[in-house]
Amino acid sequence: MCKDWPQRTQSERRGHGRAFLRPLCISVLSVTSFLACRRDKPAPVPAPKDAEARLVAVGDIMMHQDVKKAAKDGGFDALWSDVSPLLKGADIAFGNLETPVAPETGRPGLPFIFNAPPELPAALKSAGWTLLSTANNHAWDQGSKGLRETIGRLDAEGLLHAGTGATKAEASKPVLLQKGGLKIGFIAFTDVFNSDLNDREDAAWVRALDLDEASASLKALRSQVDVLIVSVHWGNEYQRVASPRQKEAASALVAAGADLVIGHHPHVLQPMQWVESEGRKGFVVYSLGNFISNQDRKWHLGQPVPEGDSRDGAMLQVRFVKPVGGSLRMEPGYEPLWVENRWGQPGPRVIRVRRLQQPENDSLAKTFEVRRERITQVVQGAKSKSAS
Ligand SMILES: [Zn+2]
Repeated sequence: MCKDWPQRTQSERRGHGRAFLRPLCISVLSVTSFLACRRDKPAPVPAPKDAEARLVAVGDIMMHQDVKKAAKDGGFDALWSDVSPLLKGADIAFGNLETPVAPETGRPGLPFIFNAPPELPAALKSAGWTLLSTANNHAWDQGSKGLRETIGRLDAEGLLHAGTGATKAEASKPVLLQKGGLKIGFIAFTDVFNSDLNDREDAAWVRALDLDEASASLKALRSQVDVLIVSVHWGNEYQRVASPRQKEAASALVAAGADLVIGHHPHVLQPMQWVESEGRKGFVVYSLGNFISNQDRKWHLGQPVPEGDSRDGAMLQVRFVKPVGGSLRMEPGYEPLWVENRWGQPGPRVIRVRRLQQPENDSLAKTFEVRRERITQVVQGAKSKSAS
């Protein structure tokens, strides 16, 4: 697993720095010096470099009422300022957006029917996210109109997204990216629905995980890209191990061409592991857990550790390297994350994602240690009485 995760400047991330300066330099050369240069030996051609790109990914971005209250009290940036440098340091920063952003469509708040304020997309963008999955069991929470409103708001902020669309064809369209010399394809599915409004293919659509259809899509895309990433909303809630259905789907997706499968939905972490299937090998993250939520808000040190599992998460970090003339290599790692939730305490509502570093006091240091151990145990699939 990667330990160090160097941070990049924004210009390096965009790959614009040097390329942008070159035309300016040429424009200030005088004609004389240009002619003089012509007699010089041609500059040596630099050796081709390995293609390389870095991705980070987090699980469910949940907008529970108290998360929205914390954003109102302290600003959205305060929710995730600890992880924002990591998001900004990657070429691709992914998250599962587990809510419509449809304030215009907005139905009155009902339990388990989500909606998010209009400020959310800009906040996600400025924190560093670049790519979202919108295919999940809350995609229909504000109906077809809300789904379309959400897409419009993400598009307006330049946030890439996959898994939903104004038509079935749009929902099924992969996101294609070019980063660090690598062609990257990204597809998103959901295997769970609260309500399934998929009805007409020419109307709003959420892409369901049909293994035959998914395999055909992956096989069609495989030859066009160097890296193929699949996001899947799947699994059983509060289960710390992958279900037989998740394992079956992971094998099918890897066999069809997936290099990386990023899973989410169970609200707790599940193992990350290499999966071999039909002569191919892919890295599968069964569940990244909640990224931010108000779940397990009452958990504190002294209570059984598993009762706080919904506040554990992980930031997946993957380096993709393709040497000149070689084949793709993936180096996966992760950063443990934990949701600090000051439920019941006086003052403004505070919910924020922590990197389990630099605790402010001894009590928090112990909490960080306990949660870090628990995260490692679940991610690595270690056997324990509670890991079920
Ligand atoms: Zn879900």
